Amino acid sequence: MPDTAKPFEIARARTLPALKAELAALRAGGATIGFVPTMGALHDGHLALVRHARSLCDKVVVSIFVNPLQFAPTEDLDRYPRDEAGDIARLQGVGCDLVYLPTVDVLYPKNFVSRIEMAGPALGLETDFRPQFFSGVATVVSKLFNQVRPDVAVFGEKDFQQLAVVRAMVRDFDMGIEIVGMPTVREADGLALSSRNAYLSPEERAIAPKLHQALEAIRDGRMTIDTAKIELQAAGFGQVDYIALRDADTLGEITPETKSRRLLAALWLGKTRLIDNLAV
Ligand code: AMP
Repeated sequence: MPDTAKPFEIARARTLPALKAELAALRAGGATIGFVPTMGALHDGHLALVRHARSLCDKVVVSIFVNPLQFAPTEDLDRYPRDEAGDIARLQGVGCDLVYLPTVDVLYPKNFVSRIEMAGPALGLETDFRPQFFSGVATVVSKLFNQVRPDVAVFGEKDFQQLAVVRAMVRDFDMGIEIVGMPTVREADGLALSSRNAYLSPEERAIAPKLHQALEAIRDGRMTIDTAKIELQAAGFGQVDYIALRDADTLGEITPETKSRRLLAALWLGKTRLIDNLAV
């Protein structure tokens, strides 16, 4: 029977000393470590990252931490879905060896004063609407990387700009961690799985897949970006933060050097902000 199919108690660590002790045990015999950072409320998209990490590495660490640094005061930090027991149950049997569950004061003690500021792929798109976001993400990811010291870290293409920012940070700071991107896991109707989908009312949930359909229509040349914005709003979406075609590597504007293109979108459906993207 493969190791991942056995029911076993996943180790948990809530403090840095506990994490270090568990990691030392995992690393015994030279095992490689894969890492999947998350904010919890785990769904099949997260679990696909864990399974993939396990296919690349001997052991897998998953962190669950809702990172206050990446939320603006007006955003959903307080109501972000949290379900630790359910998350740990979902991690059974997918190849996770250790769950790291730090509290806010473990990651940001009172004397914590540092921030990582990113330019390049962090400029524009999300940053135009969430100026604090990538500084918060880069700071927490670099801190988690330093604590876990993985060989490989797996991120979802669902957050395509974030994946580009993490790749740039790892390259710029010579972190020596292999960053692996995984395709977006979707519902049967095309809606990208997201912890925030739990906020959607039944009526909003019925409208939500139109975002993916519109991105496909733009990709296939059946619709312009401007028409898609109008049609999505007519279907019930609210403010369109952006729908933009960008260079997939730099996330800047398309240039003659552009090798591949990515269509990225963020828009509101009621009180929920949805993001999605597609290769073009
Ligand atoms: P989050 O918990 O939302 O911070 O996401 C943790 C990781 O899971 C990030 O690398 C996300 O890009 C990834 N992820 C979230 N949703 C999906 C999805 N539907 N498919 C693949 N990866 C995802």
